Amino acid sequence: MIYLKTDEEIELLREANLVVARTLGEVAKWVLPGETTRKLDEVAEEYIRSQGCVPGFKGLYGFPATLCVSVNETVVHGFPGSYVLREGDIVSVDCGAVTKSGFNGDSAYTFMVGEVSEEVKRLLRTTKESLYEGIKAAVPGNRIGDISNAVQTYCEKRGYGVVRELTGHGVGKKLHEDPEVPNYGRRGTGPLIKNGMCIAIEPMINMGSKNVVMEEGGWNVRTRDRKPAAHFEHSVAIHNGKADILSSFDYIQEVLGERFI
Ligand code: MG
Ligand code: MG
Repeated sequence: MIYLKTDEEIELLREANLVVARTLGEVAKWVLPGETTRKLDEVAEEYIRSQGCVPGFKGLYGFPATLCVSVNETVVHGFPGSYVLREGDIVSVDCGAVTKSGFNGDSAYTFMVGEVSEEVKRLLRTTKESLYEGIKAAVPGNRIGDISNAVQTYCEKRGYGVVRELTGHGVGKKLHEDPEVPNYGRRGTGPLIKNGMCIAIEPMINMGSKNVVMEEGGWNVRTRDRKPAAHFEHSVAIHNGKADILSSFDYIQEVLGERFI
């Protein structure tokens, strides 16, 4: 069941996503060689709570932390912990926050730790660009498959593997609502996109093959070939006939400056 949101609900969802956006901006300050992934999680939780919100992922389906922190070959759902970030790593940070009104923000960004290879930069750039290709297709009258196909085509043309096992999703008072928003699919298929639909679009793209394996009780999703993977996510409302991006990478950009991909 797809819940279409009112204008008022879309504004509440935007509020939640702005908390997430600012949290990712705080996290960006700590993505440095020598810091642990746990540190990123602590920074995020403290900031979210300082805003009168609660972490959206902690405890959901049993997830133990505020952030999913996924390093290098980990695609998504990595547990923050004692891992120490190293020059040349990439780290995908997925963040959720719930506001007092009960709406969920959800957004993710893949950071570079120090200098990374050109090849890895290209993976990050392509994954982020594919997110915006997907968003362009998120207009009333199109179908979810048009978003999926836009992401898939963009990434596969450039030689990357598109993860099949995990998808984007509707978002609202629940973190995961209908419809599913896969990163692969055929044009003109799937649910019709309508005004009031709110979805998280989140390409998960591998440098090598599309295949993944699940570890740590199914949480830690990593590439089978152990090549790196990237993950970028925006929450988007279909509003007044167009895609309105509710989350934002602006706070990350402010911190990273020229290092913003
Ligand atoms: Mg997310
Ligand atoms: Mg999501």
